[in-house]
Amino acid sequence: MNEFFLNDEQIMLQDMVRDFAAKEVLPHVMELDETGEFPHKIVEMMGELGLMGIPIPESYSGAGMDQVAYSLAVYELSKVDASVAITMAAHTSLGTMPILLAGTEDQKRKYVPPLASGKMIGAFGLTEVEAGSDAGNTKTTAILDKNEWVINGGKIFTTNAGVAGLLIITARTTINNKDEGISAFIIETDNPGLKIGPPEKKMGWKASDTRQLFFEDLRIPKENLLGNDADGFKTFLRTLTGGRISIGALSVGTAEGAFEAALKYSQEREAFGLPIYRFQSIGFKLANIATEIEAAKLLVYQAAKMYDQGKNVIKQAAMAKLYASEVAMRTTTEAIQIFGGYGYIKEYPVEKYFRDAKVLTIGEGTSEIQHLVIMRELVKEYQKSLSFADTK
Ligand SMILES: Cc1cc2nc3c(=O)[nH]c(=O)nc-3n(C[C@H](O)[C@H](O)[C@H](O)COP(=O)(O)OP(=O)(O)OC[C@H]3O[C@@H](n4cnc5c(N)ncnc54)[C@H](O)[C@@H]3O)c2cc1C
Repeated sequence: MNEFFLNDEQIMLQDMVRDFAAKEVLPHVMELDETGEFPHKIVEMMGELGLMGIPIPESYSGAGMDQVAYSLAVYELSKVDASVAITMAAHTSLGTMPILLAGTEDQKRKYVPPLASGKMIGAFGLTEVEAGSDAGNTKTTAILDKNEWVINGGKIFTTNAGVAGLLIITARTTINNKDEGISAFIIETDNPGLKIGPPEKKMGWKASDTRQLFFEDLRIPKENLLGNDADGFKTFLRTLTGGRISIGALSVGTAEGAFEAALKYSQEREAFGLPIYRFQSIGFKLANIATEIEAAKLLVYQAAKMYDQGKNVIKQAAMAKLYASEVAMRTTTEAIQIFGGYGYIKEYPVEKYFRDAKVLTIGEGTSEIQHLVIMRELVKEYQKSLSFADTK
């Protein structure tokens, strides 16, 4: 991303991640995409470099940096490989942050250090067969039985599920026969009540581990209710706001990777005796997508910066995720067009960027849901401005 307001620490991190991605990820990208194998070695190295806990305070074994720094790292990784980037992003934003945001001090001390140092991978299960966009329709149940929660149900499409040491999941909660709404729970993956399905076969993000989870009379201690408070649904909504910024950064990286390949190709490939960028219809495509990528970057930066300032970023995170993911889709489509027939062939990188881009308009809230979120926030802001005017 352009560096006009980054501080020295953020620029150093960006350089380090860029270098790491070029040396340790790039040589394996096509093989990982072919085999769909999880990049264990790469993730281990990321843990050693402190990349699995960038926005986590040092007191919990994280790197103690901010959301802007973390977004930069996601962006640099996704320029090279989206599967590696989403592994780190799902682990951080979804598998670790809920504990930091809503956990008790005991939960933070127990679980965050192994996660932030990369010794343990985290995952987050919200989506169910009948509860995707409609997450409030969660059917998984958690019933308090003396000092234990008994959990039944399941989750689908859980990123990192097969490699995680810890899961955070949501369930409809009953205490003394009273429905307490949806709460979040911490589950260690060696629990005998947990069954994990085989990896999903996907269009893109091939080396990212995505699986189904099944809970069969799964018992966890009473204190594994996240935050010891039955307001897990709110925790998840807060988690998704941070997660959406990282998906925005992942989208910008995916778009920029495809754009850079297309820009290079447009100067090398000749037709009718000219490099193809000299044809206005190709050159203007490049100009358009470059402009859209810059705009998407600025939305992501804005949301990350405001998040770091402790502001309410529900609208900005949704806008960044919506716009950047749609830009990733448009950019990767145009990149294939610029490559012509070669764009459709696996020997060149752009078909992979295209396959990796599509899920960005779906995961962590579809584009349609981002529109709803933005609309609701706009109405809220408007009504607040009216009631403010009334008080004058
Ligand atoms: C590769 C991958 C990884 C994922 N990782 C995770 C993960 O780690 N954890 C997790 O919990 N989930 C994960 N998900 C799930 C993802 O967040 C959901 O797929 C997504 O939220 C959409 O839910 P759904 O698939 O049930 O679609 P649905 O909710 O069934 O939506 C279907 C269509 O209807 C539209 N729609 C639904 N409701 C409305 C509405 N009110 N207004 C307008 N349109 C609407 C949607 O936008 C969409 O176009 C992952 C998904 C994928 C594909």
